[in-house]
Formats: sequence, structure tokens, C-alpha cells
Amino acid sequence: MPQSHSTTSTSSLTDRTRAVVTALTDLRPPPTAAPPTGPTARPAPTRPAAVPHPPAPTVPTDGQPVVTQPGNRGTRAPATRACSRPARALAPAPAPGSAPGPAARPAPAPGRPPRRPVPDGVDGVDGVDGPAGCPADARGAWLRFAPVQPLFRARAAQRLAVLAYHGVTDPRSFGAQLDRLRRLATPVSLTAVQEAVAERRPLPARSVLVTFDDADRSVLTHALPALIERDIPAAAFVISELIGTERPFWWHEADFLARHGGRARSLDCGHPSQLLRRLKAMPDPDRRRSLQELRVSADRRPPGQEQLTPADLVALREGGVAIGNHTQGHPCLGRCDDATVRAEITGAHEALTRWLGEPPIAFAYPDGGHDVRAESVLQELGYRLGFLSDHRLGPRLPSHPLQISRLQVDSTTSTRRFDTILSGLEPAYRRWRGQAA
Ligand SMILES: [Zn+2]
Repeated sequence: MPQSHSTTSTSSLTDRTRAVVTALTDLRPPPTAAPPTGPTARPAPTRPAAVPHPPAPTVPTDGQPVVTQPGNRGTRAPATRACSRPARALAPAPAPGSAPGPAARPAPAPGRPPRRPVPDGVDGVDGVDGPAGCPADARGAWLRFAPVQPLFRARAAQRLAVLAYHGVTDPRSFGAQLDRLRRLATPVSLTAVQEAVAERRPLPARSVLVTFDDADRSVLTHALPALIERDIPAAAFVISELIGTERPFWWHEADFLARHGGRARSLDCGHPSQLLRRLKAMPDPDRRRSLQELRVSADRRPPGQEQLTPADLVALREGGVAIGNHTQGHPCLGRCDDATVRAEITGAHEALTRWLGEPPIAFAYPDGGHDVRAESVLQELGYRLGFLSDHRLGPRLPSHPLQISRLQVDSTTSTRRFDTILSGLEPAYRRWRGQAA
């Protein structure tokens, strides 16, 4: 007897939608944590019921608008104080640089999703903008109207969003993004995250931490005034050997030199657009030698790039932007030997301690990828927080404080696409595309 189509109910549609969400988000159960206590305790997060993964996730491809859930108005981050508790013991991490494909994907540690650093660009920033010829906002904007976006937003409310910016090239757009955070999220400080970890107390719902990697001068000139105006705390991770200099970032320098006649033996073959990728893939001594060869052979020197000074770092801190360690020279730690990994972290640590009068407590992995040797050095030095560039949301109580996920964003990102990044939908969609490729 044929089955009646009338049995297709709203609830079954909802189940299918949830199945898509589950397949896309690849979220694991939240970490085991003591429930919040005290008068400010919030209700435990409500998670959708577990749904089996479908054989092939169906991603909506139309742009049909749907009514989205109104965002929650955020509350101000409470005043925070420094915490002296030691970092917690950490679980073993995947080998640096390992990013196996879906077929070879290793089983994650209990309660721990595998880390898949965004592979392109410095700190993975290139990966945000997608492949050449595919304007990121054109690709991401339609996701804002995807039927699953409200579900992603609801789930994201129970996650920690750490935004990883680099420079601020569009102050107006950046201001609009901050307005959005003020309206829809709960901006928190680095210290608040540190205290939540130390006290095993989940952060408030919709918590967002704003961070900047590499910290060029636009963080001081453009980002800081916008942050102060909206009372939004942040953190900036600096490359210590550039502070007080006019040296450009090494990846900018290499690109300039290669476009002005620079040659290096290791870079003789291959398309110029692959220069950065090739340099990053080399053992670090080879990268340094190739850079030197480019400097010697190029017919022009790159223009200077005014960097932040030690006094600027103090000004940022006083304005609510905590300063963190991003190594001495921003190598790919996975390409360095053990001694270099240690020297890169401790050298920056000592310089920042000297300039700021106190040791930094947070570190951002250059290139975004976790390195187990780096984590060991960070633990020795008393670091409380370490940040990846894996383009993921994390739990409101970070279970691995030296491996905290971040979302890659850019000051030019439209607010529509910004919403889909904050909700986790755009990152999930990108992961699904990568896995399907
Ligand atoms: Zn960086």
C-alpha cells in the first residue's frame, strides 16, 4: 500500500533541518564543566537532540529569505582582574601541520574535535576570502538567508566566538561590525576568558572576544578608537622583533622582492602566486635563506612599514586592548626545530615583559596552527590562553585553554556575512565544501 504524502509533517522537516545542522557543524558535546553557580548563574545550554548524520548533507542552495530569530541584546562584560591560577593540564594534541583529509581523519580525543587550521595565507587570513574569483561577500551573503541560519544562531549562543582580525583597513565597516557585536553579542575581555578558565565557570551566552594578529599600526589608529567608543575590550598579538622598527612583515617583503626581480633557488619554479604558500611549506632555515636570497637579488628594497612602538603597546593596553605574544619573527612553528620554537616564544615573552612591566598571559600561534612543542613552552612560561586560527566557534568554557578556536574575520566583511561567521554557519559551510572537495 503506497505511503501517503500527507505524513510529511512539519516535525519531520525540522528533523531533516537539524540533521543538516548537525552534519555541518560537526559539533561535539560541550566540555564537562562545573555548572555555573551563584546569583549570576545562567541556565545550562540547551542543545538540540542528537540526530544521525545523513549520508550526504544537503546544503540549501537557494536564497529564499526566512524570518530569523531576533538577536539577544548583550550585556557589558563585568570588570575583571588578573588571575594567578596556573594553567590546567592539557590533553595530547595532534601533530603540527597534520591536516588529513576526510578519509584519513583521525578519531578525535574524547570531547575534543580535531583541529584543522585554515591552510591558506598568513594566520589563515587568505582562507577567509575564499578562492580567487569568488568574492567572499558574494558567496557568504546568501547564507544569511539560509533556512538553517536561525538554528546556527541559536547554537552559537552557547558557544564562545573569538574573532581573529588582522589590520583594520575599513574603519567604517569595522565600526558597523562592532555595533553589531554590541547589539547582538556579549563582548568579553581576555581577562574574563582567563578567569572563566581558571574558575571553571562558563562565559555568558553569546560571548565574543575580539583579537588582532600581527598588530600593525591600524590597530592603534583605527581599531582602538572604535573599541573605546563602544566599550569593547580586545587583545592584540604582536611580533616582538618588529616593535619599534619600520620593517615590513616578512610575507609582504617576500612578495615585494619577488615582484621586483628577487630570486631564490628554492623558489625558481612555481607560479608567483604560490610564493607565500611555498615559503610557508619550507623548513624554517630554508625560508630564512630564501628571504635573504630575495633581498640580495631584488632590484628594489621594499618600502618601510611603521610598526607599533613599546609606548604604543602600553597605550593599547590602557585602552582595553590586552597585549599577547605572537613570537619574535612569525615563523611557521611547525617548520621550526625545537630550539627555534623555544627561542621564538621566550624571546617575545621577555621583550613583552620588559616593555609592559608584566608577562603576557596569552599567545596566538603564528599561521594559526597548533604546535605541541610550543604549547609545552607556553605552559612552562605560565601562559593561560593560546589561540588557533581554525575558523571555528569554541565552547563557552574552553576545555583546552591553550588551543582556543577562533573565527577569521576582516574589517571589510559585510554585516550580512559577518552574521553568518558569528553564527558558525559560514565556517561550517566552508568545512563542508572542503570535505566534499
Ligand atoms: Zn600572525
